[in-house]
Order: sequence, then structure tokens, then C-alpha cells
Amino acid sequence: MPTYKCFKCEKKIQNTNLDKRFVCPNCGGKIFYKPRKVVKKVKAV
Ligand SMILES: [Zn+2]
Repeated sequence: MPTYKCFKCEKKIQNTNLDKRFVCPNCGGKIFYKPRKVVKKVKAV
């Protein structure tokens, strides 16, 4: 199940909480993004 992050308050939101209303239950924000599972730093060679 995908987990989204609110763009405003940066709280994690389960997809089930969003269901039909795509609104953050915490701050009412409507912008979300999917945080990447693994953030790798790539060394510039
Ligand atoms: Zn929020």
C-alpha cells in the first residue's frame, strides 16, 4: 500500500485515509507526493 506525504505538513498519510477525498487530515492540504523508499547519494566521479 502506497504511503503519501503531505506537501504542507510533511506527515505521512496512508492511502486508505485519503480514499476518495484527497485531502490531508492533518492540515487540509491537497498536495501530496510519494516519498522514495531509498534515497541514495550518488558520488560524482
Ligand atoms: Zn498535511
